[in-house]
Parts: sequence; C-alpha cells; structure tokens
Amino acid sequence: MQALAWATVRTFFVYLLSLPCLMVSVHAGQLEREDVSRQLDGRYTIGEVQTDMRAYPVFTPAEETADGKPKLIGYAFETVDFTNLRGYSGKPIDLFVFMDLDGRFLKINLIDHTEPLFLSVFSHAKLVAFAAQYVKLTFHHFIEIHGPNDPTVHIDRNVSLQGVHRGTITAKAIDRSLLAAAAKVARAKLDPSVLDHTPSWYFSGPGGASAVPAGAVPDKTPEPVAPVAGNTSREPIVTTYAPTPSAVAGKTETAASTQTKKSDLDPLPGKTAAKPQADTPAVPETKVSAYHPSSALPEPAELETRRDQLERIQHMDEDNAGRQEWLQVWQSRRVDIAVLLLGLVILTTGLIAQKRMSATDKRLRVLRSAYLVFTVGFIGWYAQGQLSIINITGAMESLSSGGDLSFLMNDPITVILWVFVAGTLLVWGRGTFCGWLCPFGALQELISLITNAAGLHQRRLRASLDGKLKWLKYGVLATILVSLFAAPSIARVAIEIEPFKTAISLYFDREWPFVLWALSCLALGVFVYRGYCRYICPLGAALASLNFLQRWSWIPRRQECGTPCQSCRYKCEYQAIEETGKVDYSECFQCLDCVSIYQDPKRCLPLIKQTKADKTVIPVHAVKEL
Ligand code: SF4
Ligand code: SF4
Repeated sequence: MQALAWATVRTFFVYLLSLPCLMVSVHAGQLEREDVSRQLDGRYTIGEVQTDMRAYPVFTPAEETADGKPKLIGYAFETVDFTNLRGYSGKPIDLFVFMDLDGRFLKINLIDHTEPLFLSVFSHAKLVAFAAQYVKLTFHHFIEIHGPNDPTVHIDRNVSLQGVHRGTITAKAIDRSLLAAAAKVARAKLDPSVLDHTPSWYFSGPGGASAVPAGAVPDKTPEPVAPVAGNTSREPIVTTYAPTPSAVAGKTETAASTQTKKSDLDPLPGKTAAKPQADTPAVPETKVSAYHPSSALPEPAELETRRDQLERIQHMDEDNAGRQEWLQVWQSRRVDIAVLLLGLVILTTGLIAQKRMSATDKRLRVLRSAYLVFTVGFIGWYAQGQLSIINITGAMESLSSGGDLSFLMNDPITVILWVFVAGTLLVWGRGTFCGWLCPFGALQELISLITNAAGLHQRRLRASLDGKLKWLKYGVLATILVSLFAAPSIARVAIEIEPFKTAISLYFDREWPFVLWALSCLALGVFVYRGYCRYICPLGAALASLNFLQRWSWIPRRQECGTPCQSCRYKCEYQAIEETGKVDYSECFQCLDCVSIYQDPKRCLPLIKQTKADKTVIPVHAVKEL
C-alpha cells in the first residue's frame, strides 16, 4: 500500500516537473494606449501603437507648441515586448520606458516582476529605485553596476549605479532588458546618429531580432492622433527623477521615485523631432549626483569598466554578450568557486571513505560538525549558495515561457551546487544535499547540537505519526507546483513557506512575519529533530520524489539488521530505517550514524555477540598459598 502511494506521488511530481515542456506561453506587454497615457500622467498626446513594433509615439500636445502642432518627442514601450532576458525568477522583468528622440530615458517604471527577493513592499521599492537610476541616461553612457553601498556617480559619460543588496542577477536583468529593448526601438525609430555609440549586440539575438535591419533608415515621423481621454493637462511636463536605492531605505512606499519639473531636465515640449544638435552634449550633466572622489569608485582591477565590456562585445550577438557577462561573473568569483569545489571534493572523498570517516563516533561528530559550519558559514551566508525551491520554479517558469536556463549562469555557486546535487542524486540520493550541503538544514542541526549540549533533547515521534507527517511536505510541494500554473499569485505566497531567503539570503533582516516564521522553523528542530526538513520542506520533497534515480544502496547492512537488531533504527534521528532494517533513502540524510554503529563492537548487536563468542576462555588455576 505504502509502495503504491509512493509510486503515485513520484509519478505525479515527475509529471508536474515536466509540465514546462508541455505548456509554453510567451510574455507580452500589457499596456494599451490609455495605460501609456496614465503612465505619463496624462500630460502627453499618445499616438497609435506602431505597426512594426509595440512602441507608442509620444507627442507634446499642440497647445504647448509654438506652432500649435503636436510635436513628436519620443517613444514609450515595455521591455518585455523586445527582449526575452530573464531575472532570477525565470521570468522577464517588465519595465515601462519613455525614451526621447536622443535616446535618453525620461521615465522608467517597474511594471511587473516576480523576483523572489523583491516581492515585499520594501524590497520592491529598492528595485524601483534601482531602475529609476537610469532616468536621464542614454546609450552614450558607459554604465557599471556597483555594490549596494557604493554611491551613484556620473563622470562625463561614465556612470556607476548603486547596485541592489543580494540582487545581482535581478539588477543585471533590469540593465540588460532596458538597454536591449531601448536599443531595438532606437534602431527602428530614432535618427541613426543617436546610435553612434550603441553596441551592436543590442540589436540582434534570439527572441529579439532587430525590428529593422542594421543601418535601416528610421520610419518617417508618425502622425499624431487625437489625445486619449484625460490628456488635457496644461501643466508643465513632469518626468521622473532618479533616487538612489539607499534613498528608499526605511521607507515602505513603492513609489520610490520622486517627480521634478521639466526645467530640471532638457526641455521636451516644443522640442522638435529634429536630429540632435552637433554642439549639444548628449546629456546635460545637471543635477546628477555629486562628484565623488575616485576612492569612492572601485579599483579598476576590481571591476572591469562597462566600456571595456562593450568594446569586447561590440560585434557579438545578444547570446554571446550574455556568455561574456557570465564568464566575467565566474572569473570575479573564482576564489569562492575554488573554495566551494575544494569543499565538494572533501565531501565526496569523505562519503566514498564513509567507514573511515565514521570509524569512531567522536571522529564522525567532529568532522560532521566542522562541515556543517562550513555549509552554513561559507556556502550559505558568505557565498549565498542556498539552493531553493525557487530555483526549480524559476527554471519551470523560464522553460514554460519559451526561455532557457542561461539566466542561472550569473550565479556560479548555485550552478555548481545543482550540478553536484544532480550527480549525487544518482549515486547516493537526496541525502548528500540535505545532510551536508543545505545551509538551512545545517543550521537546524548545529542548533540541535547546542541545545543537546545544554540538556534539551529532541522528542522521537511515534512511527505512525512520523510516517503521516512526512507526507505533509509533498502536499506543500504540490501546492506550489500546481499554483505555479493555475494561480501564480498563490505560488508566490506559498513559496514563502521556505525560510531560506529570510534566514540565509537576508540574514534575518526582513519584515517580522518572515523572521518569526524562520525562527519557528528553527525552533521546531529543537523539539523534533530536523522537523522542518522532514515534514515541511518543499525542496526536500522535490529531491525525495526524484530519489528513485538513486542507483546505489550504499549504507552497509547485515542480515541481522531489523531481525532481530533494531539498534540503528532507534539511533537514526531521521527515523529513516524501517522495522525490517531497510534504509528509506528518500528520508535518509546521510548522517553516517548508522555506519558508525555498524562497525562499533560496543554498539552493533551482532558484533557484540560475536565479540562475546570470540572471547578466549582463560583457564583459572588455583594459586598455591605460600
Ligand atoms: S529538507 Fe529542505 S531544509 Fe532540510 S536539508 Fe533538505 S533542502 Fe534543506
Ligand atoms: S542513521 Fe539514518 S539518516 Fe543517518 S545514514 Fe543511517 S539511515 Fe541515513
């Protein structure tokens, strides 16, 4: 019965995990003409969407021009209509962009995203503020994204933007989506001189082939149309100004951008669609952030400049450019990668030589504790290598919307760990990851060690109750996977059952309900050994449901295991050994406790018996009294 239920669950999850191959949908922009007008506060006349691309011409209302005729001043569009680039969630990040005829960004709004680290109001505001830093920038700027604590700096055409804490992949996705989409619109609609310094890779590549061939002459100026309802304002044109991400610290409102009058920027109304004046600087450097001493900038060796990057990718397509970018990320993290690989080699060696590693209880305790500290400290908190159900849902989202998995390549630690986990899943099962490499799992175990030392011991649940509770995690996983396709908004909430983001990625620096939940999961482990892992974790459930791939029953067993000996079964804190003595590999965390018992003549019953039987009887002779 149990085997049948297990086979059904396995088939169900394999089906769910393969759904992306069956359901392919494509992301497209959502904004209609009226919405575009609203995005621009109803202060412009919005033309009809272009026939060759989803871009809206934007006009100064006739009433505000010298000759009484509407003037084309730029184009408004959504990035998702032009590029297939993905964020960490596996979905594109959709930005609304209003670009003038000089290729300058006048307004940028974050329309839609599902980036897991930025779903709360506060963290979303950080992303809004990051995107807003591009306002006033053009293709002529060489843009670098620096650390979250570095200031925004403009020096001539070199701009360093303030990055987003723990959001490198997301920030890069915004950067590339914005520039790639804008370049495609510019190529088709703006004067070619605007594009002088634009790298060619912006114009090609899969999912975003140029709307017009390179060198094509832009369309003739579109005709203005009747203003959409509500576009009757005579107010001066308002545009968004760019606060830095740090400016939103402590605020909770999503509208992180502030507004300023047109006089703060180049004049827009009344400006004709003519080519930029040769003697006019591409971007006036007024009201940009203050100049900071060069010490505020990273050393040249630390960060390759955008200029160098662009020169190197000048003649490449979008794919190649993406490859160049992730190669740079891998190079910049080579020390982290080397340490991780060394850690994985040590773990593999230890698991191969499992009997040596667990030759004595003390040796096993010391080695295992040391490795768990490495997992929490280095893999988790330092290198941010916590694998997560979000990686799986992100991959499914990307595949089901026609994307690929290349977006993951900007996170080398995660990629290496997933490759290692996939390999070890075939050989040893899910236990290699859950028992040794999961930072949140390791944190629970280290806390247990401390509370045990303090005299607080976990309770062992009745086998029948434990057996029922173990199914709970499959319910959590099923809820997440089904809602991912049926009700994505529920999936976003359901994913938060995983406390990894709070405890590992954000160091508990999050809104209190999330912190409370993460602490509750850790507290559960104080009373029930690895309670979160065994009963709740959706990632653990996903790996366990794939455990049928495991090919090697590597834990040594004797004929006496189960009949009559139950030593290992009662010592296994994970309750992963059945009454028969058989190991349930989908629940085994490879702690090696049973391997240690197996070879201990004082703890393994058959060995104790054998030792007794082998004892040589020493004859006792009467001692003559002197
Ligand atoms: S069950 Fe979940 S939390 Fe526990 S070790 Fe496995 S992945 Fe980590
Ligand atoms: S004691 Fe339990 S969890 Fe540990 S290796 Fe043995 S069967 Fe697996």
